[in-house]
Amino acid sequence: MTRQTVTDITRLRAGIKRQIKAVDPDIRMDYCLTCGLCSSGCPASGLDSMDPRRFLRLLVLGQDEEVLNSDWIYACTNCIRCKYACPMGIDIGKIVYQLRGMRPRDRRPKNLQRSCDLQKQSNSTGVPNEDFVWVVNDVLEEVHMTEPDWADLKAPIDKQGAEFYLNQNAKEPTVEPEEMVPLWKILHSVGIDWTYSSEWWDGANYCLFTGDPEDWEYTVRKQAETVDALGCRTYINTE
Ligand code: SF4
Ligand code: SF4
Repeated sequence: MTRQTVTDITRLRAGIKRQIKAVDPDIRMDYCLTCGLCSSGCPASGLDSMDPRRFLRLLVLGQDEEVLNSDWIYACTNCIRCKYACPMGIDIGKIVYQLRGMRPRDRRPKNLQRSCDLQKQSNSTGVPNEDFVWVVNDVLEEVHMTEPDWADLKAPIDKQGAEFYLNQNAKEPTVEPEEMVPLWKILHSVGIDWTYSSEWWDGANYCLFTGDPEDWEYTVRKQAETVDALGCRTYINTE
């Protein structure tokens, strides 16, 4: 009679998979059929020798180190095309987001983490708020001087009670300030009553991409408080 042996593979099961399931039980990685539909429409397929199907196989098979060490998790744009393509409705973008949060801060892309850390102080470029105000006023003055048709163009800052609040990608006042003008002209042409704020004016939220929900919530909350303090009824997020 042949003697059967049973091997306990519990300890071999993927640790990351367990952690992700603990956070979100609805993510059903084990339902994957390996059909590859997710990879076919993914803009990050092939980057860092990875694609969503391979990424998921590695996770399911417990290749935790390979997954955690792959910078592909920062190439994923979180567009969720894979979720819509997947016959099993697996949301790989959601898994990627959880993994980003599991990376120690000192092992995340430095520029990304730095932008988030700066944003929690004020804005992602670290430019002083006074400089933002100065640049807006300087660019506006330049338009008034050089474009007679736009002599009455406005770029209000901290205008109490304006209908619309507008935020601003910090890159523009920092490196290409003239790029702010076309939107000012559009708002002016359609008669929109709007304002910037002199604090928490940065519209890009890099903390969304580092994987720590408390960080991006903090910056969104700061912006929301600013909008409320100004009494604006509508918040235009440019990013
Ligand atoms: S969410 Fe990420 S993995 Fe999914 S299709 Fe978009 S880039 Fe690819
Ligand atoms: S589309 Fe869904 S089922 Fe198909 S390989 Fe991708 S994750 Fe697996």
